Amino acid sequence: MPPSSVRSAVERLLLPAECLLCHALLTPREADRLVCPVCRGRWKAVRPPWCERCGQPEPHFGPCRLCVEWPAALRSVRSAVWLDACARPAVHALKHGGLPRIADDLATAMLKTLSPADGASVLVPIPLAQKRLRARGYNQSETLARALARQWRIPVLPDLLVRTRETPTQTALTPDTRLANVAGAFAAEQLGGRLTPGRRPGVSRDPNYVLVDDVFTTGATLAEAARALEQAGATNVTGITFARAAIPDFT
Ligand SMILES: [Zn+2]
Ligand SMILES: [Zn+2]
Repeated sequence: MPPSSVRSAVERLLLPAECLLCHALLTPREADRLVCPVCRGRWKAVRPPWCERCGQPEPHFGPCRLCVEWPAALRSVRSAVWLDACARPAVHALKHGGLPRIADDLATAMLKTLSPADGASVLVPIPLAQKRLRARGYNQSETLARALARQWRIPVLPDLLVRTRETPTQTALTPDTRLANVAGAFAAEQLGGRLTPGRRPGVSRDPNYVLVDDVFTTGATLAEAARALEQAGATNVTGITFARAAIPDFT
């Protein structure tokens, strides 16, 4: 059994089959889930009208400021739900609660963020810094990407991007300082080389690289990761996240 399956099996033994968020008992059919359908239904979908590119609610006046400096290759970013009191505990469980299995619940909510049938797509998780990866034991973005890959039946390329340096945690930073904080934080495998994804089985020559992350705050991390892919030769990058944090005073 792969380590992730062992972890899932241990989780099932340790945890009663109840919803992680509201503690309602799960029916046998939902026993593989961590979140009940009622709680999943409380997640508030991010809906249009939005900026066609970054998916942020449309600005009251003028062009969107959020995505104006993004690299050209980053075509669009979408998030499934708002990071509110109902969604936050689910993100916490994925990220800090040692419950990677919740990725399947989050992935279900993300299915409408992308039509993988529109051209060949490959999923590229945002990499964690080595230190954080060692502390957590898994990369939550990769867990999310693998859950999506099972639903969409498209490949995951977990090693395409690497973190070139540790970045301080972004929580308390303003949009501008966030961008500076992640500048040059990623590097991508050269896409023209012998091991190009185009030569990997099941991956087309010029795929849509779909960056996967748990939360979108200002898009700085996705933009920087897209920049690294662009420098490596990618022309078509998309980003998807489970949740989107509301940015105060940013419309
Ligand atoms: Zn529930
Ligand atoms: Zn925008």
